[in-house]
Amino acid sequence: MKKALKIAIPIVLVAVVLGIYPCFVLVGRHSNKKLGIVYDKAFLHQTSAQVETFDAELHETIDRLHVVLKRSSGIGLAAPQIGVLQRVVLIKDGSATIEAVNPEIIHMSNRKNSFESCLSISWRVKTVKRYSRITIRAQDRNGAYFEKTLSGMGAFVASHEIDHLDGILFTDAQAGTHRAYLAPAS
Ligand SMILES: [Zn+2]
Repeated sequence: MKKALKIAIPIVLVAVVLGIYPCFVLVGRHSNKKLGIVYDKAFLHQTSAQVETFDAELHETIDRLHVVLKRSSGIGLAAPQIGVLQRVVLIKDGSATIEAVNPEIIHMSNRKNSFESCLSISWRVKTVKRYSRITIRAQDRNGAYFEKTLSGMGAFVASHEIDHLDGILFTDAQAGTHRAYLAPAS
């Protein structure tokens, strides 16, 4: 009897976990859709436009990004993911959330493996090679320029979100390459 239980209990546990996991993913996707998160790959593969006007509409977009990021428990979010093709991202760096408008990576170094998922892509996790130390130059919500150096997770998140603005998803081969901003080799 005891031997039967020893065999049965792990089988039941595995069955329960395998049964519950898809439910979590499906419920997660359902609630993310309700938040307005875009899953359409053709839409997400478009390049976002530079922000020229720092007005109330932009502030509304940024505020909406904050709400969606918080409710989805994400660590980064790009405007195209809520259906806005503009160069705006939120990057979680420790306890801070950086608002970056028109972000560009002006320095990057130390390539490492980043284990990732994305709020816009269900079911997938993947290791992506990204730079673990980057400096971004961006504008705040009022148009003022700033520079910020990020390392580790913050750098990976910034790289992932900036890729979104170029229509690149973490599942795409170009993810993390950022060739356009690489300084010429010396
Ligand atoms: Zn993403």
